[in-house]
Amino acid sequence: MTKKLLFLFPFLFAFIIVSINHTFDYYNVRSVTGGMVTQTVIIDPGHGGRDPGAVHENIHEKEIVLDISLRVRDNLEKRGITANMTRDIDTDLVSEEMKGSTRQQSSLLERLDISSSSEGEVLVSVHTNSSEDERFFGTQTYFKEGDSQGKLLAECIQAELKKVRMSSREAIPGSFYLLDHSDKPAVIVEVGFVSNEEDRRLLAQEKFRILLSEAIANGIEQYITAR
Ligand SMILES: [Zn+2]
Repeated sequence: MTKKLLFLFPFLFAFIIVSINHTFDYYNVRSVTGGMVTQTVIIDPGHGGRDPGAVHENIHEKEIVLDISLRVRDNLEKRGITANMTRDIDTDLVSEEMKGSTRQQSSLLERLDISSSSEGEVLVSVHTNSSEDERFFGTQTYFKEGDSQGKLLAECIQAELKKVRMSSREAIPGSFYLLDHSDKPAVIVEVGFVSNEEDRRLLAQEKFRILLSEAIANGIEQYITAR
């Protein structure tokens, strides 16, 4: 009897080890595939085409924000987060016949339409800032007053951006057409002031734009984890 039990012991031990490993695998697979499947965001590079956005010397908002947004998309995709773009080329998404303020309004409506019909859970619109006071500098992230998810997303992104370009600016509520009319949590990320000389110098550098895009992607990933 005793000999029989001793004989069984190695098999029992092996069974316990296999069971423990299987349990760990189960949780690992759940967390990894859960992240891969469910996380999609919409990235909106502001302006484009006939609409250059804010322009100062050699810096054109539409080009800076498209470059950064494409890098955010690529960075997120490495983390298993899908990024759908409202534009990935130099266009404002509006037909050529439209003019003036009607054109700008149509461009925003087009972006909202893409966002609304896309699978993305949140909308991240990327812009540069501009001010008559050339001393203003640094990043700024806005959300719609009362949008708690937008606020959390804006706080996550702004906290990361502040590490790249030191500033006392916090995520704040702002009234923008895009934020006011979005049917999903939305933020506007201003990556710097084109009216500020130092911000212009930094935004012209590829390595700085890479740092900004990493920071935005970090913020989005943190939001997904924290929400
Ligand atoms: Zn803009």
